[in-house]
Amino acid sequence: MAILTGTFTSVWDNGTVSTNCTLDTDTGKLSPETAEIVPNDLGSLLEEIFTDGVEDYQVCPICHEYIMKTVINPDGVGIGLTEGLECSSHCSDSDDSYDSPEPVIEREINKYLCCSTGHMSKEDSEKLRGEPFSHHSYEFGDFIYVNSDEECFKDQIKEYTDAGFSKDFINLIKMTRDNGCVFLQLDCDGPVYDDLPTYDW
Ligand SMILES: [Zn+2]
Repeated sequence: MAILTGTFTSVWDNGTVSTNCTLDTDTGKLSPETAEIVPNDLGSLLEEIFTDGVEDYQVCPICHEYIMKTVINPDGVGIGLTEGLECSSHCSDSDDSYDSPEPVIEREINKYLCCSTGHMSKEDSEKLRGEPFSHHSYEFGDFIYVNSDEECFKDQIKEYTDAGFSKDFINLIKMTRDNGCVFLQLDCDGPVYDDLPTYDW
């Protein structure tokens, strides 16, 4: 770890303010010796610089606590690299990120199979709405939970069969499971598949 000793200078419309400061070159963190006392007639802040007498470092305009470092990024069209400056502590990144544990914990991510509501008959839709068939209705359709446990899945199919759901509906449920999904989504804007029967109602 290297600590540089130098001066932190803030440049204002009507003057500059300087204080002794150290820079940790590993982290980019600045530690001013005294809290900056800024007279209120200086106008607006133009820039802040740390200098060790050899090199000038630009200070992050957002957190004011870290120097900016040079980063190399691919350019927008993907044919070259552009050089940019970013805060050593990535302070402005925090808005679109969230606290994530280290090491990263693997999350369980599940899939659902999506199809048009047109693949469900009126009769099946009405049956689904009766107890005890678990489903979640939303503005544009339904989500139907499909059990991932093998025994529970067999029970689920038996319940549908016993209640008189159509073979087509039960096929949709089986297809959902065969595709490794835990939900069947029937959505009014969902895809219509050529290989599945459709219902007009
Ligand atoms: Zn910053």
